[in-house]
Amino acid sequence: MSNWTDLENKYYMQVARRQPIVIVRGEGTLVWDENDKEYLDFTAGWAVNTLGHCHPVLVRAVEEQARTLMQTSNQFYTIPQVKLAQILVENSCLDRVFFSNSGAEANEGVVKLARKYGKTHRNGAYEIITALNSFHGRTLTMAAATGQPHYQEQWKPLAPGFVNVPYDDIEAIKAATNSNTCAVMLEPVQGEGGVNVPAQGYLKQVREWCDEQGLVMVLDEVQTGIGRLGSLFGYQRFGVEPDAITLAKGLGGGVPIGAFMAKEKFCLLAPGDHGSTYGGNALTCAASFAVVNYVIENDIPTYAETVGQHLRNGLNALASLYEIITDVRGMGLLIALQFSSDISGQVVSLCNEEGLLLNPVRPNAIRFMPPLNVSTQEVDTALERLEAALIKLISG
Ligand SMILES: *Cc1c(COP(=O)(O)O)cnc(C)c1O
Repeated sequence: MSNWTDLENKYYMQVARRQPIVIVRGEGTLVWDENDKEYLDFTAGWAVNTLGHCHPVLVRAVEEQARTLMQTSNQFYTIPQVKLAQILVENSCLDRVFFSNSGAEANEGVVKLARKYGKTHRNGAYEIITALNSFHGRTLTMAAATGQPHYQEQWKPLAPGFVNVPYDDIEAIKAATNSNTCAVMLEPVQGEGGVNVPAQGYLKQVREWCDEQGLVMVLDEVQTGIGRLGSLFGYQRFGVEPDAITLAKGLGGGVPIGAFMAKEKFCLLAPGDHGSTYGGNALTCAASFAVVNYVIENDIPTYAETVGQHLRNGLNALASLYEIITDVRGMGLLIALQFSSDISGQVVSLCNEEGLLLNPVRPNAIRFMPPLNVSTQEVDTALERLEAALIKLISG
């Protein structure tokens, strides 16, 4: 234990399950701890560092904007906010955007949008159907939306108006729909729930049901958006156009920003209905624009799919060698490896020793969410380090 971990123990609210590593700097897929030990970072700020750590394009955008203008209020127009709005709208099926500071806040905003639609177009309907095993954030309202009991139990009474149904099950959505329902909100691939990829037809069935019933189809793309699944937006992998989406994580590439976007028909929020002091500020928007523009100009999503396939191939090769691996799943660069027992914590600790950072997303599964521009060589090194960790574990 270092001085910093001791001080954290003393002064910080003890809410995070931290690995015993103090990260002091990063470059690309690499980070270094306070003892100058180098790691391959396959957690990437929790699927946030789209272009890796300290990408020069992002650093330059932050530096220049910090020197020019960081924050005004939303009482005024700023150029970075408009530029980011334009690039997101022009490259998606959505027509307008609002910027928040986080994923949970983006989801709160989209719930307001869906409820306003329900109020005005569906006789005051307000209920939102979400999935079990989902994750939508940690505000009190998002605890109700998030269909995982351990995120809910302690905070009861939960905000009313959310129904959690099994994921990848269209019949469950149909059965939960009633005259109070205004929207369905789902992740295209569940991230925190363990990287759960639905059947290819699921989101199309949800689309059809929402059209038939006049419900708002919302996709929470906080984790899947901006290239993570091998397309700029996750919905593109499933051949559907949602009515609204939320973004955060990879949108900023490291600066805190979130967004919700919607088709014109659903953009009913009027002046005064919603707002944020920091949301869409010049600094984060300039940074985010640099990231999104780079991702689009260099077709990073296609690259992420190719290198993701390379990683999945390598993991499948390990699965054929080691019986403790029972599943490899994911899309693009959002991938999980499942074990036959609850050993993900041990695997992650052993990988730390080998110089590879991973996330134990479930007691029996680890998650890979490296920067989208990770090299195939770095993936190969990560696979070697993972195998070394597994050999250590098996030989006890
Ligand atoms: C991380 C995440 C959130 C919450 O985002 P915060 O920025 O932590 O509030 C919401 N939805 C999904 C799908 C996420 O992965």
